[in-house]
Amino acid sequence: MIQIQIDDLTVEAEADQSVLDVARANGIELPALCHHPALKPAGVCHLCAVETVGKSGRPTTKLACVLQPKEGLRVKTGGELVRQARRHAFEHLLAMAPQSQSLRQMAVDWGVDIGPAPDGCIRCRLCIRVCREVVGPAALTMEKHGALSYVVPLEGRCIGCGTCVNICPTRVIEVGDQDNVRTISIRDEVIGRHPLERCEGCGALFATPRFLNHIHDRIAPHPDVKEQHQYCPTCSKLFSDRVRTAGRRK
Ligand code: SF4
Repeated sequence: MIQIQIDDLTVEAEADQSVLDVARANGIELPALCHHPALKPAGVCHLCAVETVGKSGRPTTKLACVLQPKEGLRVKTGGELVRQARRHAFEHLLAMAPQSQSLRQMAVDWGVDIGPAPDGCIRCRLCIRVCREVVGPAALTMEKHGALSYVVPLEGRCIGCGTCVNICPTRVIEVGDQDNVRTISIRDEVIGRHPLERCEGCGALFATPRFLNHIHDRIAPHPDVKEQHQYCPTCSKLFSDRVRTAGRRK
């Protein structure tokens, strides 16, 4: 039997055990994801870093899953060096699996601040700008939550045009038309929910009343132009082609 020290505890270890196994056998928990008792240790996830004294006599970190016990070995499972190594390990793993809820929860459980979960938004603000500068309702804004700002809706302003959906480069804003209702959403948050109007030409559901009214109010009076807003894009095209052809015949 070999005697080693883990934190303030002197424990006995077999030569063929790893420090991770010895720690766990003595009720000292260490995080590890690539370790399995049926398999040889691989030292891949780097989560089980512990502090020990290197050959130079200076403190360093080693992976407990591949560290063999030697008489008089002293390891620390906490402290700044271990915290740094653990944070780097979690960051590295999360870079490969950013959506993994279990990994994120594990980091939180081990006191590692990994920041907010990625939401697919690159904060280009194109949606906010187009809604304010081109469409007009200014239905979106940025709101700070913790370390990051998020695109959020301003209640009641969205008119359901879908322009923000079209301009979003990462497709994090979505539009869904279902049961005569159009829903614009970002992440799990509803930006706007609107009934859909039918095209006066073909009867297809195609636009929201708020959007049609908005266009109606914004465009200068002209009988041909105004009429077209009650038509879906396909019928509008047919309608304008007909108007153009009729104009040429005169
Ligand atoms: S769908 Fe709503 S939030 Fe998006 S651009 Fe149109 S009005 Fe603005």
